[in-house]
Amino acid sequence: MNCFNHHELSAIAQCQDCSKGLCNECATKYSIPICSICNSSRGKSEKDRIIKELFWTYGLGLGLTFLVSRGSMGQMTFGNNSIETSLMFFMMFYMCSGLVAGWYTLNRITPQVFLFLPLIGWVIYFVIKMMISIWVGLIMLPVRTCRNVRRIKQINAIPI
Ligand SMILES: [Zn+2]
Ligand SMILES: [Zn+2]
Repeated sequence: MNCFNHHELSAIAQCQDCSKGLCNECATKYSIPICSICNSSRGKSEKDRIIKELFWTYGLGLGLTFLVSRGSMGQMTFGNNSIETSLMFFMMFYMCSGLVAGWYTLNRITPQVFLFLPLIGWVIYFVIKMMISIWVGLIMLPVRTCRNVRRIKQINAIPI
C-alpha cells in the first residue's frame, strides 16, 4: 500500500479512523497516525462538543439564575442598592453555571452501578449529584471554561 497523499511513497502506517495509507511524513504529522481529513473532522466534532458544553453551562446557568431570582428575590427592589443586587445576581449566576460545569465533571465519574438502580435510586442519585455538582462547580467552572477555550484555540490552530 502507498501513501494516500504521496502516491510514490510506500505507507508505513494507516489512518486510525479510515485506514488510508500514510507515509513516514504523513504518519508523524499529528500526535497519532491519522490523515488530515479525519483529523480535521475529529477536531470539528470536538469543537462542536465544547461549544455545546459552553452553551449549556452559561445558558442554563443564566436560565436558572432568572428562575431563582424571580422566586426567592421577587420582593427585592432593584435600584435600591444596585451594587449589592448585581453582586448577588453575579454570585447566583456563578453558582448556577457552576452547577452545570460540576455536573459535566461528575458525568465522567458516574459509577456504573447506578445504571441498574430502580427509579427511586435514580431520583436519589440525581439529588446527590446535583448537590455535589454545586460544590465541584465552584472550582470547575473557571477550570473547565479556561480548558475549553484553550482547546478551541488549539483546534483552530491545527494545520490542515
Ligand atoms: Zn483518515
Ligand atoms: Zn505521505
